[in-house]
Amino acid sequence: MIMPKVCWLCEKEVAEGTPLKKDVVIRFIREMKRKFGILKGNDLVVCPEHLAKYAEKRKKFERNLVLYATAAVLIAVGLPALPLLLGAPFQPTTICFSFLLAAMVLALSILNYVPALEPGGKEGA
Ligand SMILES: [Zn+2]
Repeated sequence: MIMPKVCWLCEKEVAEGTPLKKDVVIRFIREMKRKFGILKGNDLVVCPEHLAKYAEKRKKFERNLVLYATAAVLIAVGLPALPLLLGAPFQPTTICFSFLLAAMVLALSILNYVPALEPGGKEGA
């Protein structure tokens, strides 16, 4: 079965386009969609018309990801350390809480996820 190619940006069926890399996040999202029965079974590509727009989005996403990751690390490390610096006793719950918070920050960045393109431009197995 040949899956229809759908542009990731305009969501239209296109004859040709650069395929998106099916990385961990994309696979996870697809798996979730499949579980909920809303997976359309399309092959995600970026049509030539939207390549420039896509590159812009991807760049922005990569920039944001660095910010989110930095914030997550600061929260995970800084939050448990702060009370100690102020002379408060060590609290294991603070570590759990800060890691949870850091994970949430990282999860936020996934909401704006912009996948990479397939390096070879060819469909994988
Ligand atoms: Zn398009």
